[in-house]
Amino acid sequence: MSFSFTPEFEALLEQVREKMESVVYPLEDAARRNFEEALPELMKARDALRSEGFTAPHMPKEIGGMGLSFLEHARMSEILGRSPIGHFLFNCPAPDAGNMELLHQFGTEEQKKRFLEPLVRGEIRSCFSMTEPERAGSNPVHMDTVAVREGDEYVITGRKWFTTAGHLADFAIVMAVTDPEAPPHRRASQIIVPADAPGFKHIRRIPIMGDEGYGWSSHSEIEYDHVRVPVTNRIGEEGEGFKLAQERLGPGRIHHCMRWLGICERSLDLLCKRAVSREVGDGQTLADQQVIRHYIAESRAEIDAARLYVYSTADKIDKQGAYAARVEISSIKFFVAGVLERVVDRAIQVHGALGITEDTPLSWFYRHERGARIYDGPDEVHKNTVARHVLKPYLASKG
Ligand SMILES: Cc1cc2nc3c(=O)[nH]c(=O)nc-3n(C[C@H](O)[C@H](O)[C@H](O)COP(=O)(O)OP(=O)(O)OC[C@H]3O[C@@H](n4cnc5c(N)ncnc54)[C@H](O)[C@@H]3O)c2cc1C
Repeated sequence: MSFSFTPEFEALLEQVREKMESVVYPLEDAARRNFEEALPELMKARDALRSEGFTAPHMPKEIGGMGLSFLEHARMSEILGRSPIGHFLFNCPAPDAGNMELLHQFGTEEQKKRFLEPLVRGEIRSCFSMTEPERAGSNPVHMDTVAVREGDEYVITGRKWFTTAGHLADFAIVMAVTDPEAPPHRRASQIIVPADAPGFKHIRRIPIMGDEGYGWSSHSEIEYDHVRVPVTNRIGEEGEGFKLAQERLGPGRIHHCMRWLGICERSLDLLCKRAVSREVGDGQTLADQQVIRHYIAESRAEIDAARLYVYSTADKIDKQGAYAARVEISSIKFFVAGVLERVVDRAIQVHGALGITEDTPLSWFYRHERGARIYDGPDEVHKNTVARHVLKPYLASKG
């Protein structure tokens, strides 16, 4: 197994690193403090990056993306992940990135023209609405939202929450039951709902540890109150909702893991800078303390191990497909989320009180990424998948 990249791609990554220094980091503080106020400047920077060919890295060049392969996008994602606004400025934040992939792979020509192309150009925003407040999101086959067919239309009724970026989104991809009598994994479909359709009701931005965010950096509760959309807004066949969700989530987990590794690298960098500069008496700094050195060594080893595990999983997806790599995908999902939590926490600890202020990005990372162990499948569900696989031969030999 080797992960070599072309010199052209390495040169491109160097340019991306340079853009992080010259464009992204200078805007970061303002965006973390008040995303709404910072938005005009952010949009200007985003447009400039787009005009230089730096946006939608995972989309083909023909429709305005950068045309990167899966593994290349994973590498770039680690660089972008170093800043809370990296993916946003390069137009590949969740859930837009996954929605673009879904529409590109499964959308009709009409859906691509109306929804995908402007999304890739960064002219509109999207969200993905599956989880419901009254149902366990860990097992979404149980769902109350229905799409009832009336002639050439679906009438959608239900309530969703944690619809990331639902605030001010132009359209949602909604998971709704289209056939309650079908087997559990054939009951639901994915349907595009424009946010200006009558009955689309944005209820609230749900505060995350006290921060309700704005636009892209928020999570919404949305009511679908008898929303009518044409049947042609369905993605794929009726009953294919879960199949499409799996197609979307496998690669999505790699993207998340690589973004988290970017956060880890930035946090370790901040930890080390603080450790060498903070004097704790007798000319000694935090970096001279053995326990702090342990934090650094543990973080370095965990990040490097996690990266190799993610690369090897991405390599297996490339060669054998997402289904063959499903156990590895579950492993990296909980493993890297755990590394993320530990590394960010150590960095905060080493900063002392400063670590929980808004003067560094660490508190933003902590607040917004605690969810990493919950979204896209909680730790426990992924560990169960891995353990089931490990136990298989033992249970078989038991007879
Ligand atoms: C930051 C964030 C962003 C999100 N974005 C979106 C989005 O854009 N669109 C969307 O549709 N949803 C989104 N979600 C929702 C997310 O997918 C769900 O929160 C997740 O699937 C878990 O569902 P739940 O919250 O209902 O927890 P539940 O299903 O109620 O589970 C609660 C807890 O029970 C435990 N548990 C669950 N199942 C098992 C099991 N089988 N064995 C042992 N323990 C178990 C786990 O500890 C789990 O955390 C987001 C969530 C977060 C936190």
